Amino acid sequence: MFRFIRPTLNEFIDLLFPQLCFGCDKPLEFSEKVLCTPCRINLPETGHHCEPYDQNLLNKFAGKVPIQFLASYLYFNKGGIVQKLIHGIKYKGYKEAAKEIASWYGHQLKLENRFVKDIDVILGVPLHKSRLQQRGYNQADWIADGLAESLGIPFRTDVLIRQQFKASQTHKNRLERWENVKTVFAVVDKESIKGKHVLVVDDVLTTGATLEACAQELLKAGCGAVSVITLAVAGK
Ligand SMILES: [Zn+2]
Repeated sequence: MFRFIRPTLNEFIDLLFPQLCFGCDKPLEFSEKVLCTPCRINLPETGHHCEPYDQNLLNKFAGKVPIQFLASYLYFNKGGIVQKLIHGIKYKGYKEAAKEIASWYGHQLKLENRFVKDIDVILGVPLHKSRLQQRGYNQADWIADGLAESLGIPFRTDVLIRQQFKASQTHKNRLERWENVKTVFAVVDKESIKGKHVLVVDDVLTTGATLEACAQELLKAGCGAVSVITLAVAGK
């Protein structure tokens, strides 16, 4: 009997308090999540995963650290829907939305499975403890979890850590700042990544310095290869 009551009750609650589309604020249909269908269809997808060897993105890492495969799901444009989504994910607690959207990408990646088929483990770029306490969650982990679940690949949060900053960055030049960032990541479980292909996940790809630092640490610790996926990258 309860089986029949539950969906009806949920539908009734949705009727009273409909969830709104993150993009256009229209009430969502029962089957829609985060975005209404028109907003979802109009997402500025990069299509990177269909052409990952023909992309300028990898140049960010060229000569610094070998990245096997790099893709961002969406273009981030000022004032656009992706900026709104990222802001919500980072600062307004919409972590489930992060996971949901990441799973949409995961399903696409699965279809183009030549790029993700070798990945053994998925990690989010860690936050340092104080930031994690302040925010209450790590958005990169929620994105990583969404990808991991949809791809059927293990997701770990206990492999890579971000240590506290030891020095203030304010009075340092660019190189010194970079050196400082480089030292903040540490692999705490080397065994679990030994020889493995690790996918590192973050919310937005900007300079690539953070992801580069993670990749370097992972490779130093003995992992076989590193690939990178972010939810968004600056628009063309
Ligand atoms: Zn909408």
